Amino acid sequence: MNPGPADEKSADCHCKVGTLIQTFGFDDLDDTLERSWRDEGVSVRQLPRDVNERVLARTLDDADVEFLRPELETTYDLLVGDDVSDAARIEKRRHLSKAGVDVERLQNQFVSHQTVYRHLTDCLGLEFERAPIDADTALDQVRAVQHRTAAVAGDRVERLAGNDGLDHGDYQIIVDVTATCEHCGTYYELGELFSKGGCGCRAE
Ligand SMILES: [Zn+2]
Ligand SMILES: [Zn+2]
Repeated sequence: MNPGPADEKSADCHCKVGTLIQTFGFDDLDDTLERSWRDEGVSVRQLPRDVNERVLARTLDDADVEFLRPELETTYDLLVGDDVSDAARIEKRRHLSKAGVDVERLQNQFVSHQTVYRHLTDCLGLEFERAPIDADTALDQVRAVQHRTAAVAGDRVERLAGNDGLDHGDYQIIVDVTATCEHCGTYYELGELFSKGGCGCRAE
């Protein structure tokens, strides 16, 4: 691998994230991570995806594997997801190996959320200080994840359809998020709860 030119804007650290930034020349990664974390309310657990999908994209490019954005996300999910079968993971690894990807090295380059967190706080000196958020913004952020989940589910339905897994592919996927009040047991669709300003049962 060819280390990219030194980046003056980066923290110039030698942690795993810093090493990836230098190795791949991800000059804007620090800015992107900082913005996602502090301004857009992306949780620390989601941040590794920002980093690892870039690593994956670059690795696929280097191996001349063509891909579209949704495939990139699907591939990443298959490699690291919790809810993926071993068989599916092994199949994807085999597929990538055949295409000339060093899968072992790729997966070793993936970072954990702890690593990203340490890079943000220790190397970049950022403090965890969440911007205040309103209900509309909060709902938009949740909706974005819902859409993502629905897209992944729809993709899986399509891929299973016609195989032994599923009779056909004509299913509409709906992802709902509900919240149950721990005091009275009433449950709400999240948007309904937000627009109502809460359950209100404790005021009585
Ligand atoms: Zn670092
Ligand atoms: Zn309640």
